[in-house]
Amino acid sequence: MAKISFFGGVGTVTGSKYLVESKGKQVLVDCGLFQGLRELREKNWEPLPFDPASLDAVIITHAHIDHTGFLPRIVKLGFNGPVFTSRGTNDLIKILLPDSARLQEEEAEYRNRKGLTVHSPALPLYDEADAEAALDLVVPVPNDGNPVEICEGITAAFRVAGHILGASLVHLTLSSAAEDGSDIRFLFSGDLGHYDQPILKDPAPPPACEYLMVESTYGDRLHDEEPSEDQLARIINEAYERNGPVLIPAFAVGRTQEILYLIRELEEQGKIPVMPVAVDSPMAKQATQVYNRWREEHDEEYVSILARQQHPLMTKSMTLAGTREESKRLNDDRGARIIISASGMLSGGRVLHHALRILPDENATIVFVGYQAAGTRGRRVLDGESEVKIMHSWVPVRCRIEQIGGFSAHADWKAVLKWLSGLETVPRMVFTTHGEPESASAMAEHIREEFGWNVMVPQMGDSFDLV
Ligand SMILES: [Zn+2]
Repeated sequence: MAKISFFGGVGTVTGSKYLVESKGKQVLVDCGLFQGLRELREKNWEPLPFDPASLDAVIITHAHIDHTGFLPRIVKLGFNGPVFTSRGTNDLIKILLPDSARLQEEEAEYRNRKGLTVHSPALPLYDEADAEAALDLVVPVPNDGNPVEICEGITAAFRVAGHILGASLVHLTLSSAAEDGSDIRFLFSGDLGHYDQPILKDPAPPPACEYLMVESTYGDRLHDEEPSEDQLARIINEAYERNGPVLIPAFAVGRTQEILYLIRELEEQGKIPVMPVAVDSPMAKQATQVYNRWREEHDEEYVSILARQQHPLMTKSMTLAGTREESKRLNDDRGARIIISASGMLSGGRVLHHALRILPDENATIVFVGYQAAGTRGRRVLDGESEVKIMHSWVPVRCRIEQIGGFSAHADWKAVLKWLSGLETVPRMVFTTHGEPESASAMAEHIREEFGWNVMVPQMGDSFDLV
């Protein structure tokens, strides 16, 4: 009477889409875009294994595009039901989905202009109007563990997952769906944050469930032991002594706020001098405001800083450049300073204008604080290539190159086990998803060894009966 099907976020970390069916109702949990290599991106164009128009509802665990970026597409294809998500996520997708639409439109336009398409004309997956139509369907709910009705016979409760602002564990109850007539409880971890990270609360303990899906991004890896703030302090101090600029390419939502929080803290502790900090990204500017809004997400330290009437994400000398003019003004700055700009992998955006100046400057430092995917400009710089192409010209790389590996919004496998140890029931089946194949299998093995539970690693297109 009930089943789960896996239509994305399996065998890869992107494209999360899980279809829950119970007593004739269909609910899609997450609606992510496949991202990265071409072979993955092309999956976004394949015919869907379900009819968007017959979905009763969509539930979104958090704002990242690999969990939300396909939402405007299913709306374009006929979905018109409610989209349930936390209030924090709702605020962030108002920034991210229209931006994703603009990128889709720009890419289609570029392919047409360059004649790179076999389809003529190349079309975007969706446009800004589709993104706005998707946002109109959102029903924001508190991240407080209280169940809300999703459709007849299905409720969902959202709890803080600690991954980025608004990220939720989603606990579904499928009423009377089991063969013996009892309820079935299904817990989705979404992307799980790690413990003791700045700004956000720790992941809430897992509520009792019969079935559980857990992410496995770091199923075969552990995070760096050296605290990120120590590495950041060393890099900033060295730059200050040389009177040189520091460029930090960072994703506008989440990572930028984490860096700002740490810089403010290091300044207050006197571990670094006060230097001008410029955040050059309109999305980062908006997201930084959203980060202050929802108290239910904040850890105790963040709350206590807010209580002192301080902004936890504002350093002592900070510029938030939203407009193009504000951004251009940053070009006149000289000497030791910190510039944080998107995109995090140097693949586009305003950070490229800064990279043009920083990369050839022997006195300057570039600091990578996020994963650099194969084939991106960021990866080339990190791999030590002597020049990279930016906006039609070859730019020599002479600056210092640093990487801080400890920044991650994901729990590593030990932290996932710690989180799972709070579960008071023995699940009938655990599904490990959201990982490369080796990570998902390794996570499954760790769970079997630690708890002796049934675990499976689903493949794309698999379905599993819930009994
Ligand atoms: Zn995520």
